[in-house]
This record gives sequence, structure tokens and C-alpha cells, in this order.
Amino acid sequence: MAGSYREKEVDYLIDYELKPAGITDEKVLNAIRKVRREKFIPESLRNRAYGNYPLPIGENQTISQPYIVALMTQALEIDKNDKVLEIGTGSGYQAAILAELARIVYTVERIPSLLDRARTNLYSQGYDNIILVLGDGTQGLPEYAPYDKIIVTAAAPKIPEPLIEQLKGGGKMVIPVGDRFVQDLKLVEKALNGRIYQKSLGGCRFVPLIGKEGWKD
Ligand code: SAM
Repeated sequence: MAGSYREKEVDYLIDYELKPAGITDEKVLNAIRKVRREKFIPESLRNRAYGNYPLPIGENQTISQPYIVALMTQALEIDKNDKVLEIGTGSGYQAAILAELARIVYTVERIPSLLDRARTNLYSQGYDNIILVLGDGTQGLPEYAPYDKIIVTAAAPKIPEPLIEQLKGGGKMVIPVGDRFVQDLKLVEKALNGRIYQKSLGGCRFVPLIGKEGWKD
């Protein structure tokens, strides 16, 4: 995708889709501007890379809609010193956005072929603050816990208890919770005393989170 063409496409996405929908955090918008979404989707779909919709990435999975990526990232209020856990690596695009803002990103994926592709892709683009792990993300990643921020990019029937445990006091998590077809995007905040507060960021539709504390395969 030629430089100026890409710039026009990404400017259009930001000015006409993301900003009017309430994405105003300049750091998030700059990350969207910087990360090349076309590098995370199949070659045949690359001319649609900056459309505001999800796209297939193989294995019946999707790269999320840019608005949802931006909304979830903005809600987390990521600090440059944060340690972030992502569940559902998929293409690796969301991990790249997070890595632009955080100190380190751990991302867990259950499908080996997607994880391998994301790892090769992210490392070839020079991302050295993303650790990719194969596994059931409904169990979190206890070996590196606690996390300042957690983002779950697949639809959960309920908030997995291990993720609540692995969230730092004062930390935030975004997670879609609902049935297999429609979910509520929840912002979960853990107070320093461990109390959990939740609020809704609106409706959404994700592929299912499959695992011990998620949906059955
Ligand atoms: N964040 C991704 C991106 O930027 O491309 C999009 C994620 S896609 C909507 C959801 C991903 O969650 C899929 O790749 C799916 O295989 C993965 N997934 C589902 N259940 C999982 C689990 N228990 N642990 C880890 N990954 C899981």
C-alpha cells in the first residue's frame, strides 16, 4: 500500500469514523495512525485494511473493527510503564497497538497457526516488547501477573476469575461479556482494596472465548 494512499485512508478512518464516535485520546489515535493494519490481514483483503469493520484472518477468526480496537484501548488509559495482558492474539494487530503505548505486552492465543503467524509478523516489524504465548487465556498468565491492564478480545460468558485475580489493584480490564452472538463490552476496575467495579461501554459482537472459564469448543 503506497505511502500517501495509506495516509489518506488512515486519516479518513480517524477523522470520519473514530473521532465522531468518541475516540479522542491522541495517543490512541497516533497508535492507530502508526500501526500498519494492512500487514495483519490476508493479502487479498489489503485494499480494505482501513475500512471500519472486522476482517477474516483464517481459522474462523477475525481482526477486530478499528473502532472497537480504539475504544477498548482508550478505555484502558494505558501508561508507558504498564504491563498489559491481552487474551486473543489473533492477527497481532491489537497487540501492536498496545505495544506502542505500554512498557510490555503479554498476549495469549489458543490457535497455534495464528500465534506463529502473529509472532513472525510482529518480530519482523521490530516489536520487541510483545511476548506471545500459546494457551488457554481464560486462565490468564499467572507466571507474569499481576497486570496493570487486561484486554480480552473474544466473547466471554462471564468474567474469568483468574483474570480478576491477576489484575493489579488500581488496574483496569476490558472484556466483552454475553452470549455467543451479542455481548456487552465491560470496563472492569479493581480498586486498591480489591473491590471490583464494572461499567458498560456498549454492545459488541466478538468470536467466542473458548476454554476452561469460557465457552466449550
Ligand atoms: N486481538 C485480535 C487481533 O488484533 O487480531 C483479534 C482477536 S479475535 C476477535 C479473537 C481471538 O481469540 C481468536 O484468535 C481466538 O482464537 C482467540 N481465543 C479464543 N479463545 C481463546 C482462549 N481461551 N485463549 C486465547 N485465545 C483465545
